[in-house]
Amino acid sequence: MNIHFDIVIVGSGIAGLSTLIYLTETPDFKKGGISICLIAKDKLDATNTNWAQGGIAAVKGMGDHFNKHIEDTLIAGGHVNDLYIVKKVVESAPDLLNDLIRWGSAFDKNELNEFDLAKEGGHSDARIWHYKDQTGKSIQQALINQLKSFNNVEFYENQHLIQAKKDDNGKFHLQIFTKAENSFQNITCSKLVLATGGIGMLFNKTTNQTVATGDGINIAHKLGAEINNLSFIQFHPTGLYTKNGNIAFLISEALRGAGAVLRNENGVAFMQKYDSRLELAPRDIVSRAIQNEMNLHNAKFVYLDATKIKTEILDTHFPEIKATCKSLLNININCEMIPVAPVQHYSCGGIKVDEFGETNVANLYAIGEVASTGLHGANRLASNSLLEAIAFAKYASDKLIQNLIKNNPSSVEFETYDCLQINKQEIQLTIDKYFNIIKTTNGLIDAKQLLENLKNDANRCELFDYKNHEATSMLNVALILIKDALNQHKNIGVFYNTDL
Ligand SMILES: Cc1cc2nc3c(=O)[nH]c(=O)nc-3n(C[C@H](O)[C@H](O)[C@H](O)COP(=O)(O)OP(=O)(O)OC[C@H]3O[C@@H](n4cnc5c(N)ncnc54)[C@H](O)[C@@H]3O)c2cc1C
Repeated sequence: MNIHFDIVIVGSGIAGLSTLIYLTETPDFKKGGISICLIAKDKLDATNTNWAQGGIAAVKGMGDHFNKHIEDTLIAGGHVNDLYIVKKVVESAPDLLNDLIRWGSAFDKNELNEFDLAKEGGHSDARIWHYKDQTGKSIQQALINQLKSFNNVEFYENQHLIQAKKDDNGKFHLQIFTKAENSFQNITCSKLVLATGGIGMLFNKTTNQTVATGDGINIAHKLGAEINNLSFIQFHPTGLYTKNGNIAFLISEALRGAGAVLRNENGVAFMQKYDSRLELAPRDIVSRAIQNEMNLHNAKFVYLDATKIKTEILDTHFPEIKATCKSLLNININCEMIPVAPVQHYSCGGIKVDEFGETNVANLYAIGEVASTGLHGANRLASNSLLEAIAFAKYASDKLIQNLIKNNPSSVEFETYDCLQINKQEIQLTIDKYFNIIKTTNGLIDAKQLLENLKNDANRCELFDYKNHEATSMLNVALILIKDALNQHKNIGVFYNTDL
């Protein structure tokens, strides 16, 4: 690996990879002389992107209109979204979809050879572009293929960004850990893009991949970046509930879009008690309704009934869901109901950025789930997150390529990282207990105290202890999450505290 780059991108999901591809398409990059590097702490496809099922939202016409997508986004977000950003993203969505198609992503077509769009919760029209129930895989693979076709950018797997500092000349110094060699190396760059994804691993039950430990939030926070509304955590209503109580696999909203019905343990459909949009109400409403039914019946799950959906639709549109229900629970979804419960899914807040993805720290960018752009407000509308990631990748690329600092880096000392000997599970159990769909102020105060005790009581250890480093970073992020929750003064969108 070189030791200096103009731009370093951290993350290989849709946010990191599409930022890189857009950069390579700029006239400045094509002129030559600009060095870009992308790193990922695991394999390139070990991302949440790779597991996105439902799809990506974009208006296609045919009776649908930008105003309807804008309105749906605002309703889901509790109208605290940034209207300018909502309009900008929604109106660029069709062009962004064309870029994905140009880069090789496949989307399903119907028998008339037209793109087959689905309808999901909170959407007033069918505008979800999908590839079976594996849209993320299709996008991830297409972007990786693009990346591998470039011979003028560097990319590295299994390289973990541990710390970042900024020197007096404005350059970033990055400390990177190579797991395979158990060694560190330092690189510098003029511009740093954090595309590190979500914070699901803070929770015991999450749909997220193990890479989602919130590293970008911790690093940005230490660099002085503003973190915004981290406590706006979306719980997906329908995680597959397995026999040992684990919930990790997601039963896509699209199954409810195709007609699946939620039923309580007595087999009674219940969504009409909660919202006139029934199963397709926004996720916060459906999640709270399910939680309420579980509380009423003292049950650990409710059922999703897909038995009225035609077999050929289940086979062609939901092959992965069907196969997973069979392999994990021996359930045939054509004739048996699926046990489901809400599960942590998506971080709507994050590192606050402007309309080009830049943070309040000059030349530090955050793109994708790690960022708080204003698009989602207090709750993300389904299938708007892949869209947000590629939108901000595009908006950022033109600005990223300009005004690269060409003077030499000045020296920087990485202070000894305060690495703690902590078990990740202790953090997860605390967050699970006190930061649930329904929160209380006392619970949040207890959580803060427990996490602070964990921090104060833990033994210090060598930074080389990789697991402890990741757990320390998670603990820092967990504290930001709880403090943010305590600073919320009203219930809105995904945020619900019974004491407010
Ligand atoms: C099961 C599931 C289904 C979903 N379905 C949909 C859907 O249908 N539609 C939709 O719009 N959204 C969906 N989402 C949400 C969406 O997939 C994510 O928000 C989006 O993919 C995030 O992309 P990203 O590029 O920001 O992060 P990711 O795709 O998660 O990538 C994060 C990258 O950062 C790297 N990284 C992290 N920390 C470090 C570090 N310290 N050093 C180096 N590298 C690091 C990781 O290795 C990884 O490469 C779904 C999410 C899940 C989990």
